[in-house]
Amino acid sequence: MKNQIADIIHHHDRFEIITHEGPDEDAVGSSRALAHALNSLGKSVRLIYPTPIPEPLLFTAEPRQKKGMTPEISILLDVSDVKMLGGVNPQGTVVVIDHHRTQGDFGSAAWIDPQKSSASEMVYDLIQALGVDITPAIASNIYMGIFGDTGGFIHSNTTPRVFRAAYELTKAGADPNQIAYRLKRTRSVKYYHILCMVIDRLVQSGRIFGSYIRYEDFGAVRATPDDASGIVEELASLSGAEMVVFLRELNPDTVHGSIRSKSADSALKTARAFGGGGHGMAAGFTQKGRADELIEQVIEEGLKWVSKV
Ligand code: 5GP
Ligand code: MN
Repeated sequence: MKNQIADIIHHHDRFEIITHEGPDEDAVGSSRALAHALNSLGKSVRLIYPTPIPEPLLFTAEPRQKKGMTPEISILLDVSDVKMLGGVNPQGTVVVIDHHRTQGDFGSAAWIDPQKSSASEMVYDLIQALGVDITPAIASNIYMGIFGDTGGFIHSNTTPRVFRAAYELTKAGADPNQIAYRLKRTRSVKYYHILCMVIDRLVQSGRIFGSYIRYEDFGAVRATPDDASGIVEELASLSGAEMVVFLRELNPDTVHGSIRSKSADSALKTARAFGGGGHGMAAGFTQKGRADELIEQVIEEGLKWVSKV
């Protein structure tokens, strides 16, 4: 499928690249790397982010973009559910590149590989298949995506292939120290205020820990729901936690749930019960409701799936 997508790219001229709302390191890294590669091939490209990019992720040269054109091909990166497009409508023939286990049936061509750490790792393979040189900007963006989705080379998707890519990307100009600092050492004080509230509300049931943050809590510390990104990883650092659940209200009647588990598939199975998806050990969902009411239901569902040993 990778070579088929490389052929599609070689045979067309105008592209748009779309990724998911709330773009994370992988969404931004994979999309910007691919845009740079399309630039190198002389193609016209535009990038579409359903919601803004967090500032720390923008540290490489901007890819050249052509705004006023009709794309022939829309490449969707790191998107496993059309709901994650936040209402954006692809304008061209849809090509999907994704590494999630849950994948709705969309896209004229779809390259789905859950063995890959990240969409960025897949884009790295694709760029090599396209025969494009790995510039420092491409290398930095792909490294950022891999670093983000492996949790800084921590999660179970940290494979030998990931380390080989990290080695090659570092040689091609990615700066591991700069990227790690930009991703890990740029927390705001607001983030720690949120963390305080979340820890205050921490509940435990068996080996599941859960907490939440309400919409009005963000106002109290002049934060937004985006400022809570990363909190679930703090909970996942608790010793003895087999699963953690973190709910944040995106607005007064919508909750985003983030679930992490140590045993394979329990996070995904729990998220699916609430209409979501993701990876076996890192999954999420978005639902109508209030976090303080939903938290018990999610933990109860989780208890069905965590390993009993
Ligand atoms: P997070 O907890 O960081 O929001 O998401 C963890 C994983 O679950 C990510 O890989 C993300 O793509 C996936 N995910 C989060 N929310 C949703 C959702 O509403 N639907 C689906 N299908 N996947 C989700
Ligand atoms: Mn990803």
